[in-house]
Amino acid sequence: MITGDQEKVRKINRSLILNTLRLHAPISRAQVANLTGLTRGTVSNIVNTLLEDGLVFEDTLEDSKIGRPSILLRLRPDGGAVVGVEIGVNFISVLLTNFVAEALWETRVETSLSQSQTEIISEAEKLIDQALAVAKKNNLRPLGIGVGLPGLVNVRQGNLIVAPNLRWKNLPLRLIWNQRFHLPIYIDNEANLAALGEYYFGAARNVENFVALTSDIGLGGGIMIDGRLFRGGHGYGGEIGHIQRDPQGEQCGCGRIGCWETQVGPRAVLQRVKKEFQIHPDQSLLDACLGDLNNLTFEIVVQFASNGNLICRKAIEEVAFNLGVGIADLVNIFNPDLVVIGGAFILAKDIMQSIIEDAIFSNALQPATETLRIGFSERRTGACVLGAVAVVLDDILREMVIS
Ligand SMILES: [Zn+2]
Repeated sequence: MITGDQEKVRKINRSLILNTLRLHAPISRAQVANLTGLTRGTVSNIVNTLLEDGLVFEDTLEDSKIGRPSILLRLRPDGGAVVGVEIGVNFISVLLTNFVAEALWETRVETSLSQSQTEIISEAEKLIDQALAVAKKNNLRPLGIGVGLPGLVNVRQGNLIVAPNLRWKNLPLRLIWNQRFHLPIYIDNEANLAALGEYYFGAARNVENFVALTSDIGLGGGIMIDGRLFRGGHGYGGEIGHIQRDPQGEQCGCGRIGCWETQVGPRAVLQRVKKEFQIHPDQSLLDACLGDLNNLTFEIVVQFASNGNLICRKAIEEVAFNLGVGIADLVNIFNPDLVVIGGAFILAKDIMQSIIEDAIFSNALQPATETLRIGFSERRTGACVLGAVAVVLDDILREMVIS
């Protein structure tokens, strides 16, 4: 009889072997045993079930050292399909990958805050249907759907608690989509998923301790500690954008006053430019906004700053400095080896990077900065949606994410 504990151990060992193959394949059964510390018998048993389940295949290669063919194991690209979804404040992004996370199909549609929650959810469902149809056409069984949302998510229950910038509240999305798609559904905060995306596929590959910042409208953060996302007791941890830095400051989308994201998010850059514009009007900037400053975007500000516009340049520089000072605090608390900056700020990397670095290195405690690197994400968009794929694979490849 197999007890619950034995079943759990078997699941962990199975995940351990799959993850070892993800990182090191092609390798032999003996190498798997060496790398995992499992006995050869255990490895053989589990590999046999993985072969039966179609997740792994055997490749016969000539081994030059021993002069005869050896049997090496790999993950099967056609082991299944994974859907990653990001619902942002003004877009929906969907990515379909195979079992080794190679993109098979992707799409992104713009949405608007005037659309209702029901309309946006139904739009996302249609895109997921399209992704699943592509999977079916490729004879790939769907393994799960990962979803990133811009707000507080109860990861255990799969509920969105609140998304201030979307103005959504209390949405049991896992339950709704479980019933709609009959697949495992993983709901998480977008910044956490972006961090996972960087860890699996991006700038933080093989870095076990890092902080990933996302900047689309506000500022989000994902914190990786010893290769695991820091979530806190219920999954609400890591909301670094809502650290209060100015009690006399601006109102934040969360309802409080003076949160860090009101000082340093992309929206804060726009507000600085608009404020300065009242004192020093600039016709060319107004023309770029089609005569209405409400059309000002972060892209326009970066373009003008790069072309020497002083208002735009100063706004970005001030935000970069405040960002660096705040990151210095995170460095003091978490002592990461890497801080990855993603989202809209990637566009302003040339202006921001040295200012951010100077502010961090002159404000953080010196020993905490000795091995610290500051990097920008390699992708303007997509870290979150890749992370949404990673969260599904992570659950299959490792022991449960939420243990
Ligand atoms: Zn806030």
